[in-house]
Amino acid sequence: MAARHVIIGGGPGGINAIETIRGYDADASITLISDEPAYARMALPYYISKSIPVDQVLTGDDGYFSNLGVTTQFGLRVTSVNASENTVTLDNGSTVEYDNLLIATGSSPQPLPIPGADGEGVHNLWTMDDAKNVVAAMDGDAEVAFIGAGFIGFIILNAMYKIGARLTVIELENQVLPRMLDAQGASLVNTWLNEHGVRTHTGVSVQAIEHGSDGKKTLKLSDGSSTQADLVIVATGIRTNIDFLNGSGVNTNEGILINSRCQTNISNIYAAGDVAEGSDLSTGQQAIHAIQTTAVDHGRIAGANMAGQDVEYPGSLLMNILDVCGLQCASFGSWSSGGEKTETINASRPLYRKLLWDGDQLSGAIILGPADDVAMLNDMGMIKGLIQAQTSLGAWKGHIQTNPTDIRRPYVATKTAEKMLAITTLGSPAAHRAYQHTQDGGKDRSAHAVLVSNKSA
Ligand SMILES: Cc1cc2nc3c(=O)[nH]c(=O)nc-3n(C[C@H](O)[C@H](O)[C@H](O)COP(=O)(O)OP(=O)(O)OC[C@H]3O[C@@H](n4cnc5c(N)ncnc54)[C@H](O)[C@@H]3O)c2cc1C
Repeated sequence: MAARHVIIGGGPGGINAIETIRGYDADASITLISDEPAYARMALPYYISKSIPVDQVLTGDDGYFSNLGVTTQFGLRVTSVNASENTVTLDNGSTVEYDNLLIATGSSPQPLPIPGADGEGVHNLWTMDDAKNVVAAMDGDAEVAFIGAGFIGFIILNAMYKIGARLTVIELENQVLPRMLDAQGASLVNTWLNEHGVRTHTGVSVQAIEHGSDGKKTLKLSDGSSTQADLVIVATGIRTNIDFLNGSGVNTNEGILINSRCQTNISNIYAAGDVAEGSDLSTGQQAIHAIQTTAVDHGRIAGANMAGQDVEYPGSLLMNILDVCGLQCASFGSWSSGGEKTETINASRPLYRKLLWDGDQLSGAIILGPADDVAMLNDMGMIKGLIQAQTSLGAWKGHIQTNPTDIRRPYVATKTAEKMLAITTLGSPAAHRAYQHTQDGGKDRSAHAVLVSNKSA
């Protein structure tokens, strides 16, 4: 009998597992259960900035899933898992049996426990519905206040900057992007934001949101000041969606604990993406890396193992790459460790590079500069590659220490591109994924160009 695979969650973790399973096994039965349609959240900012239409946020239409031979149950939630019976129960009372189960349920925004946070015009921008509500509520030059200056908040901020919104950011910690940049990098970003018309308040908390009868909101700050907004975006952190696993026997910490095959303590239950706590490539410790790239890697590894392969994952690389109103910022690996470092800074451009060393290997980096700066984006990719491939740089270490902007020669000389190919998740190059919306005849909209372009729309 064909194996029965059940996937909970239609985000990048779940979808990559499905595509991988089907790549290995044409006959397996695959069922996807997800309370939302299948899409990648990272496409939402492109919809908000009007770079793509809303249907392009979706991973695929009905034709895509029927071509893949997937039974879909959208709009339903899994409420419990019975690991001894190999069944999941849904919120409509039905049960579904599995041979292998993948939990790819992602994470949800933390609630903000202050007065007025549940009022109209205060949004978490996490789901497609949130994005539609925000787009419907926004005039081009609306005043928008962000509570939380982290990675997700800044991705949305950048999208709103592109459409001319007037922006204010409020952050509890003493710097913006506290989990992505050190104080030096954050200070350059702060100055850049202010020069580009974005107001920043750091080291203060929002204590209440007052809603005026004209729809205006007043945010009361802990330093006694206040700021006004038409719209408030709350981006103060996320928590994993694991509540439905209570009593299931699946081991959890902050997320679901997985081994190098993305398997939980129960051998036919796997987990992937934001909900999973797997090995961190840099530290070897268990960690949650709530980013798209980890969800994709986990999904592919889990899918391959569910399909009967024996594939291990070396661990996910902590990485954040962000466009802040034209200033490119990235951090990789152990960027906050206190070890040996090579630093270069030019505050007026601004350009900042901090490379962290572990012997003759790069273990982490912060890199920051304008998008149109020579080699900025290429260097970002090569530095990430040197860290991820754990390249021993030998004599090239000294070269980088004296020439920290000449990354290309050490990268080529150490054959790091070849090393990266060898550690490609499933040991083979990624296949072209083809166009997944069949209703309009498979027209290629060159979405990739939209997503990576450094030119304004
Ligand atoms: C606005 C925004 C922009 C982002 N931009 C980037 C970026 O530029 N780069 C990057 O690396 N990352 C980015 N991220 C983060 C990235 O989107 C997540 O890391 C990624 O979506 C995680 O994928 P996942 O498959 O684990 O979970 P998700 O994408 O969250 O998918 C999980 C799905 O499971 C469903 N689900 C949950 N519980 C249940 C249940 N009990 N029953 C049924 N279904 C359930 C959820 O509703 C959801 O649809 C962004 C996130 C947001 C919100």
